[in-house]
Amino acid sequence: MSACIRHLAAALLFGVAPYAAASGASFALSEIAPGVYVHHGALAGLESPARADSANIGFVVGERCTAVIDSGGAVVTGRALAAAIAATSDTPVCYVINTHVHFDHVLGNAAFTGGEARFTGHHELAEVMTANRAYFAEQFAEELGGPGNEALVIGPDQLVEDSLELDLGGRTLVLRAVGRAHTTTDLTVHDVTTNTLWTGDLLFRDRLPIIDGSLKGWLAWMQQARAADYAHVVPGHGPVDHDWPRGADAQLVYLEALRDDTRQAIAAGAFIEDARDDIASEARAGFALTERAHAVNVSRAFRELEWE
Ligand SMILES: [Zn+2]
Repeated sequence: MSACIRHLAAALLFGVAPYAAASGASFALSEIAPGVYVHHGALAGLESPARADSANIGFVVGERCTAVIDSGGAVVTGRALAAAIAATSDTPVCYVINTHVHFDHVLGNAAFTGGEARFTGHHELAEVMTANRAYFAEQFAEELGGPGNEALVIGPDQLVEDSLELDLGGRTLVLRAVGRAHTTTDLTVHDVTTNTLWTGDLLFRDRLPIIDGSLKGWLAWMQQARAADYAHVVPGHGPVDHDWPRGADAQLVYLEALRDDTRQAIAAGAFIEDARDDIASEARAGFALTERAHAVNVSRAFRELEWE
């Protein structure tokens, strides 16, 4: 099948949810490589009503079954993805893989329960999802269809210790658990057939990366990943990179500048509040949604690098 874009009137099937009303009624899907489908999330921060559909999510179709990679930031987003899969793939969903714990990648999971799907994630993910269940139910009540819906926060039932191969029939996905990097629960998914890597939020494009794990760990992952040869790389946010590692250049420049400038500020005895704006100022200029993310990153970097 040639690459194509499909628009599905998901909002008509499932009722108009607030995010759908704000972001448009269509659910666009791109086939970026044979059998590899990506729905690009909106460039939207936490304060935006489009936040429930702000991450890249999608699926890979095998001869026996289909694997979902991230389910979106709301149950309605997950349902729109499920409808898109039903319209595109002849095989049932057998895996729902979450690349990490952040809400915009996991809160659509409930749309895939009740079938044969196994929920699959990093070995730390089950525990971290459990720890976040009450927080998700409170902070993302609307995304979960109303208050008190903790039961709709679905964690993994299959954990990846180091790596795991999933057979979809005629194609294999290789999942790898990563050490502390973007978060403590990062998992990459490699579709061997098309040499496509799904990075989750280990790669941000266009919007500023945000650290919820370890700056040094993230840079270590980048060094390793950039040395590999991938035909297509699907980031957690932003456009697909068909020219790897070119698509990771801007993130690398920012994270390295964050590390180096923070080390300098610490060495000079600067206060975090005074140093923040100057740290990685050029390197972050090309990104969107910088303000909150950069403040978080600088305080994380200070904490991590202070006692080196
Ligand atoms: Zn994330």
